Amino acid sequence: MTYIITSLCLRDAGCVEVCPVECIVPGKPETEWPWFYIDPDTCIDCGACVPECPFEAIFPEDEVPSDYVAKGGERLSMPAGTEGFDETYDGSNHHGEPVHLEHTRTLEEGEIIDLTKDNQPNYDYFQEGPGYSALD
Ligand code: SF4
Ligand code: SF4
Repeated sequence: MTYIITSLCLRDAGCVEVCPVECIVPGKPETEWPWFYIDPDTCIDCGACVPECPFEAIFPEDEVPSDYVAKGGERLSMPAGTEGFDETYDGSNHHGEPVHLEHTRTLEEGEIIDLTKDNQPNYDYFQEGPGYSALD
């Protein structure tokens, strides 16, 4: 199994520092790969990253909710061109550095979201995207 970073990720980066096998990589370019991604082949399922995420964006793969019920006010982030994701997010990460995302959407209380669609990009990032070369 592996853990999965979902579209609730707003690039806080706190998870990266606690991963014992250094398998969490920032997506680049951000317009195409807006989250951080977990390498499924390297993740050892320790779960250390989960409590570090201020947006509760990380789940064990078999527990990613298909019926996530929004509290209201949380954001999803998607690649440029995704329909309905037209809000800009400006925040700061774990290190106090600015985070700027142009393709987000704020959820309304009670909205039901299928987050299992976010599983595959974690695989794709390392198979088709830049993967670890994003760290260079
Ligand atoms: S801590 Fe959460 S928001 Fe931050 S990079 Fe990791 S998954 Fe994304
Ligand atoms: S579950 Fe453990 S090994 Fe997997 S990404 Fe999170 S911290 Fe890293």
